[in-house]
Amino acid sequence: MDRAKGINNNDLKRRNRGLVLQLIATGESNTRVGLAKSSRLTKMSVTNIIDEFIHMNLIVEGEKDWEKKEFQGRNPSLLDLSPHAPKVVGVLINRDYCAAILCDFQLNVIKTERRELDYSDKEWLLENIYGLVDSMIEDENNILGIGVASIGPLDVAGGVILSPPRFYGIKNLPLAALLKEKYGLPVFMDHQYNSAARAEKLFGCGKNFSSFVFVGVTNGIGAGIYLNGRILQGQSGLGSELGHMSVDYKGIHCECGNFGCVENYASTNVICSRVQAATGRKTTFEECCRYSEEDVIDQILKDAIDKLCSCLVSVSNLLNPEAIIMGHESVKLPDRYLTRMEEYINRYKLSEGYDHIQILKPYFGEESQLVGAACNVLSRAFEGELLFE
Ligand SMILES: [Zn+2]
Repeated sequence: MDRAKGINNNDLKRRNRGLVLQLIATGESNTRVGLAKSSRLTKMSVTNIIDEFIHMNLIVEGEKDWEKKEFQGRNPSLLDLSPHAPKVVGVLINRDYCAAILCDFQLNVIKTERRELDYSDKEWLLENIYGLVDSMIEDENNILGIGVASIGPLDVAGGVILSPPRFYGIKNLPLAALLKEKYGLPVFMDHQYNSAARAEKLFGCGKNFSSFVFVGVTNGIGAGIYLNGRILQGQSGLGSELGHMSVDYKGIHCECGNFGCVENYASTNVICSRVQAATGRKTTFEECCRYSEEDVIDQILKDAIDKLCSCLVSVSNLLNPEAIIMGHESVKLPDRYLTRMEEYINRYKLSEGYDHIQILKPYFGEESQLVGAACNVLSRAFEGELLFE
């Protein structure tokens, strides 16, 4: 049971510092006056926090902003992230590849690397992940933490990869603990689409929404859900499995045991096989999208999308989101299919005419999951859990 918890003075101080750091890092504001306005803290509090940040080498004071008329001659100094501020590592674990990123608090990418997983067991996977992290941190001695975005199912709180289907038999891998022990850094792990949703919420096209759904379509289908400003984690973080929502209770027998799961109709590998069966051509999903003017391919794409939309109507009726962000491989879909989705979902949701759900492509494109891994650390810093005593 959730109980309301008291907030002590130290929690509050840390939270305020995290908030000011977030506002600067995400480009909301770069003056003391602007920060006071956006954070609703007093100018005195903001000034004290900024002094502390400058002392901590987090923030530098830049040029005075002579141009801004709104300050009418007060010439505020512009604040920016210090080049000496700590950096953050993100690791993405997919069925087909692993990738890593090194970036700063503004999500500026310093370097990134990717390794294909054509064959893997637990040791091989770990060796590759360690190799990626080593290569990210080799020239850096000031790392705040490591964020991991992974395929599920996961024990999010414990940082364990449980038993992803078709994942080389790897089960119960306590990755967060292993990384923490090896590198001596805090490690935060979450599902790849929760991580992607976090990236879009902090820095991307989810900034202005408090409730939205990030949908990832690839050889599986999943989601990351923001509800009233918070990631929806459920009882044990095992939810948001959009691909296993049924569109037909007598439909295809899914490997999860249920019938008619939408993944069996609308994932990219299913679309590619249907195109191959209809045209005799072996195609990638990118090619299906590129040749979607061909009537037979267009029909297959529309059918898959309509099935996915019928799930998203249910999702919309349950959660009442402001937007649905179509990520992972679905960023390759020509815009007319997103227009079709927006029309379908808004026509068939129960609240038709009362509000409007936007269908968007992610700001970070196919990289949302990878930058999201780094955001698993940044979001903790912005909540004041790291950096501040
Ligand atoms: Zn299923």
